[in-house]
Amino acid sequence: MPLSTRQREVLHQIGIPVWVPRQSPAGEPPDVGATEVSGVPGQATAAAATVRSAPVAELDLGGLQARVAGCTACTELARQRTQTVFGVGDSHADWLFIGEAPGAEEDRRGEPFVGRAGQLLENMLAALGLRRGDNVYIANILKCRPPGNRDPSPEETSACRPFLDRQIDLIQPRVIVALGRIAAQSLLDSSAPLGRLRGREHELRGIPLVVTYHPAYLLRSPSDKARAWGDLLLARARVLRS
Ligand code: SF4
Repeated sequence: MPLSTRQREVLHQIGIPVWVPRQSPAGEPPDVGATEVSGVPGQATAAAATVRSAPVAELDLGGLQARVAGCTACTELARQRTQTVFGVGDSHADWLFIGEAPGAEEDRRGEPFVGRAGQLLENMLAALGLRRGDNVYIANILKCRPPGNRDPSPEETSACRPFLDRQIDLIQPRVIVALGRIAAQSLLDSSAPLGRLRGREHELRGIPLVVTYHPAYLLRSPSDKARAWGDLLLARARVLRS
């Protein structure tokens, strides 16, 4: 399967050789048998081998993103995705927001929380004096879209969890905000309802974690926005204390 433009960019950024068809004279089809490679061959080959074979816990963010881009552990998701949705933002952010999984628009654009729910999340960030990409990182527990926006299966969340754990360990945020029931239950390995998980601090990989509503839910239930704001203030208080 040909690489997407985004995948090519990521691979190029981390020094992995990207094989491209040699230019053909105008009007002729590309010569797919003849290729050239970008990057420094020796270094790039070593980097590619590292990304393929190194334990996930030893990859940096670029290597992790490349590993995710090639992951096919969940056969159905890998077959149907447009692209993986790794996460986006400041790699040294104090705030890490984690949602459930990419939706249709995220799958198309390769970025988490776009569309109406993303706009609401950005408004919530603005209310905190934050903005996407600046001291904020946004990710999901699944890097691939479940078809029809169904809930992720336990097998899928387990398969994808090492990638998220490594993201958390690399970013080392001051607080994690779990967006919605599925993200909260998965991250905390709990079956408790959202109402019991909200309103207090938890801990994940040594980092304080606060639970709030998913922005898509808040679009349907705006009367809960005040509660969500309370959750965010709890998270902000934790950031200010640390
Ligand atoms: Fe791999 Fe995660 Fe996508 Fe499953 S959801 S195929 S584990 S990247």
